[in-house]
Amino acid sequence: SAPVLTIDGPGGAGKGTISRLVAARLGWHLLDSGALYRLTALAAVKYEVPRDDEPALARVAATLDVVFVAENDAATVLLEGRDATTAIRTEQVGDAASRVAALPAVREALLQRQRDFRQAPGLVADGRDMGTVVFTDAPLKIFLTASAEERARRRHLQLREAGVDASLSSLLKEIQARDARDMQRSVAPLKPAIDAITLDTTRLTIPEVVDRLTELLTE
Ligand code: C5P
Repeated sequence: SAPVLTIDGPGGAGKGTISRLVAARLGWHLLDSGALYRLTALAAVKYEVPRDDEPALARVAATLDVVFVAENDAATVLLEGRDATTAIRTEQVGDAASRVAALPAVREALLQRQRDFRQAPGLVADGRDMGTVVFTDAPLKIFLTASAEERARRRHLQLREAGVDASLSSLLKEIQARDARDMQRSVAPLKPAIDAITLDTTRLTIPEVVDRLTELLTE
């Protein structure tokens, strides 16, 4: 089957941007698995599903009507035909996503959906468990990290560009809380696959990381 490059790691390490750029450079497909958890959380709010109703949340995940539209530079996400690209990016939806993502039935419901993205000529899969659960046979697995302070700083800049003024210290707290939840959950906890290469991007620029990954792929 088609080759897969898995890029896992904590939030804010640059996985989204890096995955998009690497996929574009290779002409490969892109899976933003975090978006599936975010969309599940968003749809659950819309349908007023209680956040502890695991079977109902799994049904929401299984029946999610979502379309990813890849454009030259950005990716648009349609939920039930409506543009949800910016709605899924808020801190609240991210937080809700990490809660639904801790439910085994929800993860199970999204498993095959994610595997269906594996198509020729190849796939760049961005998430938390791409290398450990979803694509265990991927020929190249990357674990992308950066210090929590650096990730908070990047998020701060990103929000400022979007016209949102959030405090650095509250962003750092949110990042640390989300990391803790993602690493401590019992299903698919965030950790590098045993055969993953860890890349710390704290002191690297985006083009440097993209070059490094492209090199690793051709080695
Ligand atoms: O990467 P992103 O911030 O969009 O992911 C949102 C949340 O979805 C994460 O905090 C994590 O809990 C969950 N997630 C996951 N497995 C993935 C991708 C995301 O559990 N493969």
